Amino acid sequence: MIAPQLIDTHCHIDGSKFSEDRAEVIERAFEAGVSRMIVVGMSDPGFAPAVELAEKHEQIFASVGIHPHDADGATEEHFVQIEEYASHGKVVAIGEMGLDYYRDRSDREKQLVIFRRQLALAWSLGKPVIFHLRDKDGSKLAYDHALAIVSEIPPPRDMPRPVGVLHCYGGDAEFARAMIKKGFLVSFSGSLTFPRFMDHYREVVRAVGIDNLLVETDCPYIAPVPHRGKRNEPAFVTETARKVAEFLGLSDEDVARITTRNAERLFRLPARGAKQRTITYRIRDSLYINLTNRCNAGCVFCPRETEPVVKGHDLGMREDDEPTAEEVIAEIDSEFARRKFSEIVFCGFGEPTLRLPELIEVGTKARAKGFKVRLNTNGWANWYHGRNVLPEIAPALDVISISLNTQDPEQYAKIMRPRYDEGGEWLSSDDPFEKLIEFVREAKLHVETVVLTALDGFPGVVDAECEAIAKNLGVNYRDRVYKELG
Ligand code: SF4
Ligand SMILES: [Zn+2]
Ligand SMILES: [Zn+2]
Repeated sequence: MIAPQLIDTHCHIDGSKFSEDRAEVIERAFEAGVSRMIVVGMSDPGFAPAVELAEKHEQIFASVGIHPHDADGATEEHFVQIEEYASHGKVVAIGEMGLDYYRDRSDREKQLVIFRRQLALAWSLGKPVIFHLRDKDGSKLAYDHALAIVSEIPPPRDMPRPVGVLHCYGGDAEFARAMIKKGFLVSFSGSLTFPRFMDHYREVVRAVGIDNLLVETDCPYIAPVPHRGKRNEPAFVTETARKVAEFLGLSDEDVARITTRNAERLFRLPARGAKQRTITYRIRDSLYINLTNRCNAGCVFCPRETEPVVKGHDLGMREDDEPTAEEVIAEIDSEFARRKFSEIVFCGFGEPTLRLPELIEVGTKARAKGFKVRLNTNGWANWYHGRNVLPEIAPALDVISISLNTQDPEQYAKIMRPRYDEGGEWLSSDDPFEKLIEFVREAKLHVETVVLTALDGFPGVVDAECEAIAKNLGVNYRDRVYKELG
């Protein structure tokens, strides 16, 4: 497995501040765990140095655009160049473009004209965009204008998401959310390590969420703590990533992997290394087991068949690639030797109980080694296998977590969409909700801890009613945010 590494998604190492030691700066970045960099070229002094750097280094990519500071000096020639560079294999975005009402280095009307025109050009070229937005303290004018412009000039319907990024974001949670809805990611720089902004950024980073987040340095500017006051450089992006991990309660490794994948999607960068089968994956302190991608449900919110990715882990797996019990056990051992974890969870995009013998073997052996084992399941195992499998599974588990999803049986069937079985026959005419409740009752008799989970925030789901069902059944309850898989 390739160690997850960070991408500095916005740097200006093409500039004169780096002319003395550019090669060393790039080398230091790689040593610090920065695998790739996006160098943002400007119309002043010109796009060529950024693109040349990208041509010279496999791990460097470029973006070209007219900074709002340079709007007054923008010419037709710049637009011609942007269009030409857009077809260059290493130019991955258009920007930075936007509005800077903080320094007001260019006339605001001119900034608006140049911003609109670049945005329309980028969309017509099918390129993602990098936004630079800055307001005078206390004002939201630049943000309001930007939102209006994106509504007026939206990305093409068929353009894959994400479509752009708010770089070096300093605005509030509300604007970030509005732009995420429009297909944007949000990138944070070293400023979130500054003590006096910490509370603000903690709130905004949490509102953005790891799946919509990038990290950058914007070097040579705004060096993070503990390098404040010095020239910034790509190696320092690790400080920003570490802060993000702290704010979100994730590991550094989680942040590196997820933000890297986010950047790969936005800039359409080739994923590093050949696609490998993911048998186990880590989230926070847990080791998750990906036994199968098959499922007897077809939940409306489940991206299993379109994009089986959770927290940056690609879980796509064909049936003939499914791991054997021995393979899973070997990977559990080697992962534990690499770094400890507190529990093992059978989850993944697929229903683990479809692979009953493997589930039982792995779970039992893992428990014998002293690990705590949890199964996340849709609760249809007895229905599916046509017998009570709980006495068989029980020795393999400490906790069974069952998706109740909703309090409403009718909605349940609509959300879960029970499938035909492999032979092509309808499983049965039974009520799936009833089958689920029967399973929960039975689980209670065999497994030490039973947890029911509901879809927090899903339309029609009433948290209190779901909790009441769990209480009546005498089992634990947890709501889970339905968009947050894993
Ligand atoms: S039960 Fe889980 S894996 Fe299966 S479709 Fe629903 S969410 Fe996806
Ligand atoms: Zn900027
Ligand atoms: Zn910049």
